Amino acid sequence: MFEGVAGHARVTEMLIREARRPANSYLFVGASSIGKATVATEFARVLLCPDSDDHAEDCRSCRRVWSGNHPDLIEVGLEGRQSLGVEQARNIVQTATMIPVESEIKVFLVPEAGMLTEQAANVLLKTLEEPTSSTIFLLVAESEMDLPSTVGSRCRTIHMGRVPSDLIERHLLGLGVDETRAAALALVSGGRPGVAIGLITDTEIDAFRKNWLNLPTRLSERPGEAAMLATEVEGWVAPLASRAVSDVDLTKDERQREERRTAAALMESGLEILATWYADAAAIQYGAPLRNMDLPLADLTAISPKRAVRNSELILEAIADINANLRRHLLLTNLFTQLASG
Ligand SMILES: [Zn+2]
Repeated sequence: MFEGVAGHARVTEMLIREARRPANSYLFVGASSIGKATVATEFARVLLCPDSDDHAEDCRSCRRVWSGNHPDLIEVGLEGRQSLGVEQARNIVQTATMIPVESEIKVFLVPEAGMLTEQAANVLLKTLEEPTSSTIFLLVAESEMDLPSTVGSRCRTIHMGRVPSDLIERHLLGLGVDETRAAALALVSGGRPGVAIGLITDTEIDAFRKNWLNLPTRLSERPGEAAMLATEVEGWVAPLASRAVSDVDLTKDERQREERRTAAALMESGLEILATWYADAAAIQYGAPLRNMDLPLADLTAISPKRAVRNSELILEAIADINANLRRHLLLTNLFTQLASG
């Protein structure tokens, strides 16, 4: 069960127990590209399977979920729209009243539940609250805050975290990726299997990591130079993000949104890689084990361990602001100036 999922063992174990007596609606929340929709789809497959997924060979129902054409798994996507509005909500409500085609239940999967409008939410509430026993809703969003609270409060919330890098590595090895590459992808993805998988064939992965690890020796206290570095860094992230979003079925809007999310994820991974440089600079002087084995020792010991610890903390503190804020360029510039100042 849940074989195609990278990590999330605690969540999948819980869902296997849930499947025996499922609630009427679930909300899967967590960072982008960590596998929320993948886990939700696998949960739908288990819910729909006539053998309760208790079979060694794939059954017809499970195969139809995997190939995306199970008649009782209804995916409600944006399909080019900016939001999920009243019209989609009415369709859901109406479809929910119909009996399942070949399973005991019908499952609605809403991968972009954060795009539900307030009005659409109001239309849906009654269905979520007094669902027919044969309908289960699986909503997916980055945060509970992204959807109307009236909807969120009616769902059982499943919190999903980032996936440890060794598990992403193992998953990539299972997909036939070679060891060196799997390790590099796991590092760059920052705990997001979706990003790692999107970049499997990308040639710039090593360069991305090395660029971030070269930054500390290039930083300057002069704001003008820090600003130029910030621009350069943004230039590492954007093209990689657009290549990572490889799904050809996306509309232009969906692609742009996915690229923005992936860019934010990669910026965060990059900053975390940068933080490991400073953590290593402190570690080598305190005799602790290093995270990166390929850094010039002379560079690492050129900074005092105290400052290295401080810088590592500064970066980790800045990550949330940089991703949440529209003034990302300015925040990056400030961070780089601070890192360079003694
Ligand atoms: Zn099955």
